[in-house]
Amino acid sequence: MNLSDRLAQFEDEFILCRTRRHRYDDIGDDGKRLRKWQNTASVRRVTSRCERCGTKRYEAWNRITGAILASAYTYPHGYSVEKGLAPRNFRKEYLTRRAGNAKFGKL
Ligand SMILES: [Zn+2]
Repeated sequence: MNLSDRLAQFEDEFILCRTRRHRYDDIGDDGKRLRKWQNTASVRRVTSRCERCGTKRYEAWNRITGAILASAYTYPHGYSVEKGLAPRNFRKEYLTRRAGNAKFGKL
């Protein structure tokens, strides 16, 4: 499969998130990742989900310093990419789809 055919397979939401970043909202902690980091006097787990594509971000924050101690992601089916697809490829696909598609904003 050539590059443009492969890019055409991605959901609009995945193209948007790969080029414009995720839209994260905090959600309840489902405890599925970063199990070795549990809430303590100095650690807080912070879990969020992208409202657009569904990617979940798991983080452990240091309550004292605010530092991010660890992070992990769970991606929706179809979001992951194989070698050979670079951010610039997604930006080109974004521009192609943006023409005439309100989801992608206006030129
Ligand atoms: Zn997203």
